Amino acid sequence: MTGLCQMLAPILSFTADEAWEFVPGKTTGTVHEVELKPSDFSISESEQTKWKNLLELREQLLPKLEGKRQEKVIGKSLEAKIRLYTEKGGKASDLAADTNVLEEFRELVNVSQFEITKDYNADLVMHADGQKCERCWHWETDVGSHKEHPTICGRCVEAVNQFKA
Ligand SMILES: [Zn+2]
Repeated sequence: MTGLCQMLAPILSFTADEAWEFVPGKTTGTVHEVELKPSDFSISESEQTKWKNLLELREQLLPKLEGKRQEKVIGKSLEAKIRLYTEKGGKASDLAADTNVLEEFRELVNVSQFEITKDYNADLVMHADGQKCERCWHWETDVGSHKEHPTICGRCVEAVNQFKA
């Protein structure tokens, strides 16, 4: 809360001061008199390497996505499925080994589907399978399989049902 008020202070000075009123343990009457301390946010070396590799891979994939957009195979990147060829020991194979990382990467590239292939000749970018979910705009193969919510995907059905409970 303290840090948030300080970050907002130069932009929304009155709002930040109003919020400052509610900061517990504050030592000054106004947020504008507080010194901004550098945060000790840091990530491990292996995390840094992971993200460096992911960003590099993303750089390689973006022009391919753009190519398919120009060929009118896809419109928005969420309409795409990427099939990634992974060679043994390559960067992409580390990625493929961890489904959480793969999911993070899918979000980073902002496509609906990601597939790992061992077939070098497989097409890299194609149109995603399934249908577009009305709620999240992802293309999913389980859209239409829920009677109560025929236009949204399984993940969204779960999210919607959570609100109901
Ligand atoms: Zn959805």
